[in-house]
Amino acid sequence: MQLDRQIHDKVFCPFISKDEIAHKVKNLSSEIQKDYIGEEILFIAILNGAFMFASDLLKEIPGNIQISFVKVSSYIGAQSSGRVDELIGLNTDLKGKHVVILEDIVDTGITIDKVISLLKSQNPASVEVCTLLFKPEAFLGKQLPKYIGFEIPNKFVVGYGLDYDELGRNLNEIYQLKEE
Ligand code: 5GP
Repeated sequence: MQLDRQIHDKVFCPFISKDEIAHKVKNLSSEIQKDYIGEEILFIAILNGAFMFASDLLKEIPGNIQISFVKVSSYIGAQSSGRVDELIGLNTDLKGKHVVILEDIVDTGITIDKVISLLKSQNPASVEVCTLLFKPEAFLGKQLPKYIGFEIPNKFVVGYGLDYDELGRNLNEIYQLKEE
């Protein structure tokens, strides 16, 4: 049995085990492979959180695929009135490609909406989202992720790529913030 963990000032309890994650990752990879028979996929993983999920998922996909790792950055533009979003690290031409975005978690959906619209401006053949975790109660986005690992309650989680103030990403299972 796994024990609670202290990270910084908070206590987290075991939530999704290593085996449950591995099983779900296999199922997600099978679903994706079934939907893209004969097609080459360009996977775009969102750093930092999706690094572990992307690594495990892509090991289950034996065909020819491409993978790109990107970061979403938001800054106040010199001329513009609002914030400007950009994707850092995307060096691949997306025109005509089937893109699958890999995310660790979709919460409000704001991040993924930004990523989708930035990618769509490059005229890919299609763009879908595959997320390990999804918080339906928090979601305000436009496009529901097509591939969802676990629907979870609207509580903070860490582990398997997800951090709490930069700690916890290395944990091989997912922990949930413990109620006081
Ligand atoms: P969004 O609200 O835009 O869907 O999610 C933005 C980002 O917030 C996610 O990519 C993730 O980095 C972070 N996030 C949302 N919910 C959680 C959570 O429960 N735990 C952790 N560690 N990060 C979260």
